[in-house]
Amino acid sequence: MIAVYSTGLRDRFRNLDRRDGVLLRGPAGWGEFSPFWDYDDVTCVPWLRAAVEAATLPYPTPVRERVAVNATVPAVGPVRAAEIVASSGCTTVKVKVAQAGQSLGEDLDRVAAVRDALGPSGQVRVDANAAWSLEDAVRAVPALDRAAGGLQYAEQPVAGVDDLARLRRRVSVPIAADESIRRASDPLAVKRAEAADVVVIKVQPLGGVRACLALVAELGLPMVVSSALESSVGIAAGVALAAALPGIELASGLATVTMFEQDVAATPLVPEAGSLPGGRVAPTALTHAPDAVAARWLERLHRVADVGGIDLDEVLA
Ligand SMILES: [Mg+2]
Repeated sequence: MIAVYSTGLRDRFRNLDRRDGVLLRGPAGWGEFSPFWDYDDVTCVPWLRAAVEAATLPYPTPVRERVAVNATVPAVGPVRAAEIVASSGCTTVKVKVAQAGQSLGEDLDRVAAVRDALGPSGQVRVDANAAWSLEDAVRAVPALDRAAGGLQYAEQPVAGVDDLARLRRRVSVPIAADESIRRASDPLAVKRAEAADVVVIKVQPLGGVRACLALVAELGLPMVVSSALESSVGIAAGVALAAALPGIELASGLATVTMFEQDVAATPLVPEAGSLPGGRVAPTALTHAPDAVAARWLERLHRVADVGGIDLDEVLA
């Protein structure tokens, strides 16, 4: 069984103001296939493997019932940033920085507002999505560390693994790798180059919960499970991964359904007291995408299945 959802986003995120994707139901439950539209079919193959895994196989046995999560603050102004933090109930906050068209001054104001709203004991992390040059990052990361009254880590300040490793030797703030793990042909390069203190793990781009567990075991670094801005159906797979990881200490980046104007579930996976519950989610309150959007997704689904040699029989039945 297949359904296509579509929703507006409350704040512009990753230069998107809408999010849509396919939900697939198989014998084990629902899975989500929602690669961003700028990804080509080959890049989308692991995303589809993740969806088919969720629909056809049980999740691994959890070692915890709930998973601590961070709030996410997009590249908004300081007043809106403080509002998001105050209403989240989370004690860890990830702040988007280095947005195209914005200045470092705007990032510093946003991070300072987040610290004010969070209080001295919470954790603040920033994510630059690989936007800075090495020299920009050498200037920006310590400045943001001061504005935040201490950063937990800076996520993907620069693009390449080599620059990530160089930056890590020049600043005292811990460095997290995200794009260098999920968009790399060789995710283990980060470990070999000693380019990161923390790795960000995402279920869809890395090919499913089981593939992530295998990668985490190989990397042997502290990890953060994050979303790819999925609906509650996709987020449930991230929660399943974080709930199955014995050594997880950092809050997961899975509280992103709060950015959706309309989620697919009647009880959306949004945090209560800073954590999310484990378990399967079904699209009980799905708003179907317009026909043209649904048709585009179904074409894409079949193209990616062909490219990846993925059998959709069990989810199309
Ligand atoms: Mg990131």
